[in-house]
Amino acid sequence: MTRTVPQIKVPADVERVVGKLAAAGYEAYVVGGCVRDALRGVDPHDWDVTTNATPDAIQKVFRRALYLNHFGTVVVREGDHEVEVTTYRIEADYADHRHPTSVAFTDSLHEDLSRRDFTMNAMAWRPATGDRPGELVDPFGGQKDLEAGVVRAVGEPRERFQEDALRMLRAVRFATLLDFTIDPRTEDAIRVSAPLAKTLSGERIQQEMVKILSAPRPSAAFRKMSDLGLLAVIFPELEIAKTIPQDKAVAQDVFEHSIATCDATPPDDLVLRLAGLLHDIGKPATFADGHFHQHEFVGEAKAREILRRWRFDKETIAQVTHLIRNHMFWYQTEWTGSAVRRFVRKVGLENIPALFALRRADNIGSGARSPRMYALEALWERVQEEIRTASAFSLRDLAIDGTDVMQALGIPQWPEVGRILSELFELVTDDPTLNTRERLLELTREVGRR
Ligand code: ATP
Ligand code: MG
Repeated sequence: MTRTVPQIKVPADVERVVGKLAAAGYEAYVVGGCVRDALRGVDPHDWDVTTNATPDAIQKVFRRALYLNHFGTVVVREGDHEVEVTTYRIEADYADHRHPTSVAFTDSLHEDLSRRDFTMNAMAWRPATGDRPGELVDPFGGQKDLEAGVVRAVGEPRERFQEDALRMLRAVRFATLLDFTIDPRTEDAIRVSAPLAKTLSGERIQQEMVKILSAPRPSAAFRKMSDLGLLAVIFPELEIAKTIPQDKAVAQDVFEHSIATCDATPPDDLVLRLAGLLHDIGKPATFADGHFHQHEFVGEAKAREILRRWRFDKETIAQVTHLIRNHMFWYQTEWTGSAVRRFVRKVGLENIPALFALRRADNIGSGARSPRMYALEALWERVQEEIRTASAFSLRDLAIDGTDVMQALGIPQWPEVGRILSELFELVTDDPTLNTRERLLELTREVGRR
């Protein structure tokens, strides 16, 4: 079969990096993910260059190289681009199924390509120079696999996953984001090697999770990971949810409900994606009574544990767990204005949009019919009304502050001032018309006398 000779448009800055190495007498190619993406017709987010020049030689060619990392990669700035230039290498000794304990340089491009994970990631492109046309180096059939939509390990799949267990997650990630299938032999090798995933660091799992969660429908990845035995190893809390019936509008288990909810959150909002995925993670442990009693609190704790294990930052963990803790609210039309305001106070005004987005996704994820949706939108309207009438939702929103209280009563500092402000806040929550400077100073004197 003949294949059209591909043409890859490399940015001029990157071409200059390759050109400078060539002018100094070295081989140089763009390589890896950028070649894959360019062939797919997608703009690569970064361009990597591989060369037979040693790190020292690379630095001589680029006197203004930004830095050299401990694996010998030189980062070069050219125009708007930062290009990673790496010497051809083979990685040796994967003692821990994670990181090569040493790298050895080689002068063979083919050897460099053969240590890469998947055929579509093991291609190199030499941009055209003068009258010499561009050239694709594709020893493992990456172009063919890319066209067929297949993720296939380079070489012997089992060995490749033995070397680095992360490749198993990468396979699932690429399949999900590109909507590809994983080659059956590669899949079989993952099934056999899945237990090795327990050696992976939380940071590396996090990186893959974040990318998986940016897919339009991450559910495909979680089903695949479960099918291949990876989920039980790195995310057993979700694997177990397969045995727990959800008992909502449609027959569904907690696993399917969780990933369907995740799918229904916006792809560019990591906090909501994580909250959707984890919002019911407390259900398996609270199933005994058949009612998932307090699963939001158990889920909050479990989610924190999982996200810490994956080394997520404090802020992300705080936001996700806050949403999970608060996700079980039930609105009734009888709620008074004060009840609506207390709800907003508890959740925090700044978290309201995310909490509603989570609940909408939760409803979609459980195939809920319209009445539940209707109640949610009705509450949303009432919250908006409270916001429009400028109610106070936190101490900061009161028309006076601690200094005013101290001056009005001639008293020093906390905790007395704090007690008074809290009482004023309660009064204003019940009756927002009290939230004027004049009324609050009057009330301060009354409350202060008690
Ligand atoms: P992304 O779009 O996420 O950047 P990528 O394929 O470019 O995808 P990188 O992590 O940037 O992924 O790695 C660049 C290249 O290095 C890959 O295309 C692949 O050739 C190689 N590579 C990366 N990680 C591994 C690994 N764990 N095992 C083997 N080769 C890898
Ligand atoms: Mg990349």
